Amino acid sequence: MLRNFALGVLGASALAGCAVTNTPYPRVGDVYGAAPTPAGPNIYTNAPRAPLHSELFACGNWGSNIGEIGSRGETTLYTPYIYTPAGALLRNPTEVACLSSGFGWRGTASGGGRLHNGLDLANREGGFIYAAGEGRITEAGPRGGYGNVVEIDHGRNVRTLYAHLDDINPSLRRGAHVEAGEPIGRMGMTGNATGVHLHYEVSVDGLLVDPLQYGREAPAIF
Ligand SMILES: [Zn+2]
Repeated sequence: MLRNFALGVLGASALAGCAVTNTPYPRVGDVYGAAPTPAGPNIYTNAPRAPLHSELFACGNWGSNIGEIGSRGETTLYTPYIYTPAGALLRNPTEVACLSSGFGWRGTASGGGRLHNGLDLANREGGFIYAAGEGRITEAGPRGGYGNVVEIDHGRNVRTLYAHLDDINPSLRRGAHVEAGEPIGRMGMTGNATGVHLHYEVSVDGLLVDPLQYGREAPAIF
């Protein structure tokens, strides 16, 4: 089986203590309709921990800022972890999703555009969203156009933000500690969103960075 492919040794040790499993990523075409864990009562009690994705596929070829895409529809140079001063973070904190928009300038056919300061990871079926790394909850609730938001402070000036959540794990409170891979919410389209997706932001030293590009080189320690 493919279960162990591309499970980085450094990455595995970086998230030691978290029950991360390595799930091969579905192919583009399958992925948009891939079924995540259905919602239900007490869903967070028995939620699976974060899978560790080795590949991320583009939802389609229409994204203007997705960047290079491989022959199988995969986004290139994908590694499961972002190496940051606060340690390793999941590059893809979803249960099942494809990349619907990348980081940076997002053009339109009419010539306009705007800066997109995160990744959009989509699955019309929703699914769990996971804490990208260990940290402390700094926000868990609605924030205007971002809809339901969770923000995590990982220390060393590294933060992650998860927007448009359908719901938030009710056990999360501001100041609470979360483990890497802990289910923090479910993908949704609250706030200003036209489809079910996660808007995922990573900031380092106050700057928003591209979660697909930042920290690609694995350092010798962590
Ligand atoms: Zn977005």
